[in-house]
Amino acid sequence: MDHYNDRMDPSDSETKTPAELLATPVQFVKGVGPQRAELLARLGMFSARDVLFYFPRDYQDLSNLTSLVEFEANQLVRVRGTVADIDTRMTSTGRFMLGVLIRAQAGGVRCMWFDQRYLLERFSLGQEVLVTGKARLNGGMCELVHPQVQWIEAEEDGTPIADILPVYGLTEGLSQGAMRRVVRLSLESYGDVLEEVFPPEQLAAKQLWGIHQALRQLHFPDDREHLALAQRRFVYQELFVLQLALAMRRALRNHEPAAPLIDATPRIDARIRRLFPFELTPGQQNAIAEIGHDLRQPVAMNRLLQGDVGSGKTIVAVYAMLAAIAQGYQAVLMAPTEILARQHAATLGQTLSHSQVRWGCLTGGTSTRERQELLAGLASGETAAVIGTHAVLQEDVQFHKLGLVVIDEQHKFGVRQRQILKQAGASPHYLVMTATPIPRSLALTLFGDLDVTTIRDLPPGRQPMHTYLAADDQRERWWEFVRKKLREGRQAYVIAPLVQQADDVETRDDDPVKQTASAEALYEALCHGPLEAYRVGLVHGRMSPSEKEAAMAAFREGRTQVLVATSVIEVGVDVPNATSITIESAQRFGLSQLHQLRGRVSRGTHPGYCCLFADNPTPEAQKRLEAFTKSTDGFALAELDFELRGPGDILGTRQHGMPPLRVADLTRDREVLEEARRDATEVINDDPQLTNAPHQRLRRMVLARYGRVLELGDIG
Ligand code: ADP
Ligand code: MG
Repeated sequence: MDHYNDRMDPSDSETKTPAELLATPVQFVKGVGPQRAELLARLGMFSARDVLFYFPRDYQDLSNLTSLVEFEANQLVRVRGTVADIDTRMTSTGRFMLGVLIRAQAGGVRCMWFDQRYLLERFSLGQEVLVTGKARLNGGMCELVHPQVQWIEAEEDGTPIADILPVYGLTEGLSQGAMRRVVRLSLESYGDVLEEVFPPEQLAAKQLWGIHQALRQLHFPDDREHLALAQRRFVYQELFVLQLALAMRRALRNHEPAAPLIDATPRIDARIRRLFPFELTPGQQNAIAEIGHDLRQPVAMNRLLQGDVGSGKTIVAVYAMLAAIAQGYQAVLMAPTEILARQHAATLGQTLSHSQVRWGCLTGGTSTRERQELLAGLASGETAAVIGTHAVLQEDVQFHKLGLVVIDEQHKFGVRQRQILKQAGASPHYLVMTATPIPRSLALTLFGDLDVTTIRDLPPGRQPMHTYLAADDQRERWWEFVRKKLREGRQAYVIAPLVQQADDVETRDDDPVKQTASAEALYEALCHGPLEAYRVGLVHGRMSPSEKEAAMAAFREGRTQVLVATSVIEVGVDVPNATSITIESAQRFGLSQLHQLRGRVSRGTHPGYCCLFADNPTPEAQKRLEAFTKSTDGFALAELDFELRGPGDILGTRQHGMPPLRVADLTRDREVLEEARRDATEVINDDPQLTNAPHQRLRRMVLARYGRVLELGDIG
């Protein structure tokens, strides 16, 4: 039944523009109709174009078959054929046996399953399947016990089955065969209408397939090589469009309102440095030089300062703030947690202890009176700097002359917060700090419009760090070691991934994780167990700001010797006397996060000790944790994390509001990413707004996808 002909005038294709044709409602696409259109709508397909770009989520590879003439016993065989016979019986030992005879080109294979009754209804005579299993010979016949089966679903009209079949995401009521057919018919009717976005020279230079060939082969590849070439085109396209958007964003910054001129003259520079209690490391010197350079430009700085835990980023930020203040501007430093905000405030307070500069600290815990005073000072300009949490983003926080915004631990903040602050000031300079080193491929995508400074060295005199992955039966020995260190006057952290047991719905009652995964349970267990004789404190994210601050203060001042915590202490907390950290259920943390946690205990003049305990880690988790014990290089660990766990865990990717990548995979496609970035930069240098004729379609694509998130709209 052909819906296309009854509803559309065949001459349509001659009078409609390509865009109109591609916008044809999915219902009128050949082979669809109203009912199926509803199913497709559930999957986000509303037009012919949507169907064309509904990419397979996987492929069924039916190649590499084993010849039934040559196989040997015990060999792994792959056989494709049709179901010729199905029988079931009970064995003498009372087991349910399902036998399926598969007829293949050069013979037959007998497949057997025991006690898998549910499989029976999945087989029917004449059906095509591919079975994979270890061959057993029985009277010259190939037998497979419990083979893997792939059901090969023919398209509805019996289009011959190719070697590689697309596998689409489906919804109830829509079969794989039906979906394949809808895509095939769409390609037939609309595939040629698509317009190429790349100029021909670029396709040639990059050896990329044109859209028509690429799209066909992506859906229905002739073989693996064709599929790879088709994928390459779309991966490149996706990353290139992203990089164009980011390059446009960078170029746009030249058009923003002029940024405050903050010139750290040699005199100012010397005055600030005199306030620091130590010599700066070469990495810090370099960071200050790069930031100093940016602050003198009329274009607002947008710089990411990354440096491993303990590399001394804070002082660099303080330098920039003091430079701004020296030139009559205000500065704000935002930290992701109350604890950190107060710690930064303490650093600034020390640095400014003999100075007239007025500054304040603003968090959720700030009293109303204090807050009002501070806001008045900021609005009038008398208060030069504020350090705080998200609280500094509230609407009533107005600055008189905001010159610099420093954000510590960027990944805890989203794009949106940055925008709010941007509106508050004219066009302040931005410095974003992170101790979670960002793998280069991510830096190029999410942070593509940031310049990056990296501090690679640590302040001198750092003590060695010892990391262990311990088995459960080594616990007592480890606690004995911790007690010894406590008796020597040192302090200790103990970390659990959860606040309370109820945090984790996956945890079953009989799960041993439960005992150690929650900070509260751990606190109880330690107070009445191995650390009974010591003063133990507790801090976690569910406590009120004042409770948290009290717990931290007690630990900082040594009133508590042990601090049981969740990862709230992950970032930045600085207690040099703490030298050991125990991490329970370590497999629940990412490597970068573990590295952050470990960074809490090599900050003073004593060696640091970190001990991980894991609950029933998977072999993969075990490997990850072992790798962690062998490396103290935060950058290497971040890269490893990224490879093993993908980008999501490193940064709250979604927070950034960037649309997800559909075909590219940042781990797999790193090289293409670099290539796309170079190419995009070149294009934007020549044609900053993509207004040249050959770039028109690219421009539309860039704006459609990234115009809003990256605020490219104003050039549209
Ligand atoms: P992070 O980069 O992790 O934020 P911090 O700024 O908290 O690191 O610095 C870690 C510790 O190192 C702090 O106690 C700080 O006072 C100290 N520190 C920073 N720079 C130096 C330096 N150049 N020499 C000695 N100690 C330093
Ligand atoms: Mg820090």
